[in-house]
Amino acid sequence: MTISIEKTISPKKKPDSNSLGFGRHFTDHMFIMNYTEGTGWHDARIVPFGDIPMSPASMVFHYGQEMFEGLKAYKSSTGGFRLFRPDKNIERMNSTNDRLCIPRVNPEDALQAIEELVSIDRDWIPDQPGTSLYIRPFIFATDAFLGVHASKTYMFMIILCPVGSYYAAGLNPIKICVEDEYVRAVRGGTGYAKVGGNYAASLIAQKKAEEKGYAQVLWLDGIEHKYIDEVGAMNVFCVIDGEVITPALEGNILPGVTRDSVITFLRTKGYKVTERRIGIEEVYNAAEKGSLEEMFGCGTAAVISPVGTLDWNGKIVNINNDRIGKISGLLYYNLTGIQYGTVKDEFGWSREVK
Ligand SMILES: *Cc1c(COP(=O)(O)O)cnc(C)c1O
Repeated sequence: MTISIEKTISPKKKPDSNSLGFGRHFTDHMFIMNYTEGTGWHDARIVPFGDIPMSPASMVFHYGQEMFEGLKAYKSSTGGFRLFRPDKNIERMNSTNDRLCIPRVNPEDALQAIEELVSIDRDWIPDQPGTSLYIRPFIFATDAFLGVHASKTYMFMIILCPVGSYYAAGLNPIKICVEDEYVRAVRGGTGYAKVGGNYAASLIAQKKAEEKGYAQVLWLDGIEHKYIDEVGAMNVFCVIDGEVITPALEGNILPGVTRDSVITFLRTKGYKVTERRIGIEEVYNAAEKGSLEEMFGCGTAAVISPVGTLDWNGKIVNINNDRIGKISGLLYYNLTGIQYGTVKDEFGWSREVK
């Protein structure tokens, strides 16, 4: 694929790498490619970051035909950068596209677009410990048409943000509220796809949890409200009596790249990892018996996020005395080490771009 490049004539001042936060600052350039039925994807280009003109009738504004991905670039000691399993994100992008009737993107073109854009803005990759460059590819429907139908035109864009360490104050366990009323996804729905609509539908529960002083919600399954699904926008793991358990992928759970890496890493190290349904009752029973050793969420943003407190309709349990568990610590150290290139990558996950 040929990508035309128009460089900015007014580069922005880079933010202070000690106060980056998440998703607030954007780099100098962005990638755009258009899709037209009959022609396919065309006009791949990197241009200065800026606003885009859109018709108010664009289908994405009305019916939400939109998808996104999220991965990170990490500065490598040799001046280049590393991507963590970008092939998995691109594979998931196409699985989401299939679900939403969005045309597929050639995986090699998607990887080329990511790598060329990050290369052009490589001076924006922060180098303080724990910082990285967040990569946000997304696709949306652009037909100016109000009929309910899959769009015939789309835009695929990639934007980049330097992001701070998620754990500026250390790997602190979070307080979670179990959500009993609203659900995130049901089997047959879009729970396994990375779409904006899932997030729009989840905001109300997040708001409710925050009002009660909790960081995130623990989602229960959409049918029986009995089994745990995900924690906030992360996949969830429990360690009960030495066994690592995570909900099986049954269509309602997002197949996280971090989730897959956690499972593969732990199995390689000899841990017993089981993918199956886990009832919230089972979690509470284990907590009361003292056999719930650890619980944690995982995803690209935080990598590993230990859960310290659970509140299910006012019934509160404490996990591992609010401390980071052994497995959570081991995973955080090794996964971030592979991402930054400081731990040997025996899995071939880290892709170095010079
Ligand atoms: C993106 C996402 C995850 C985590 O996926 P990673 O590939 O590990 O970043 C988990 N749950 C939801 C709902 C997500 O959108």
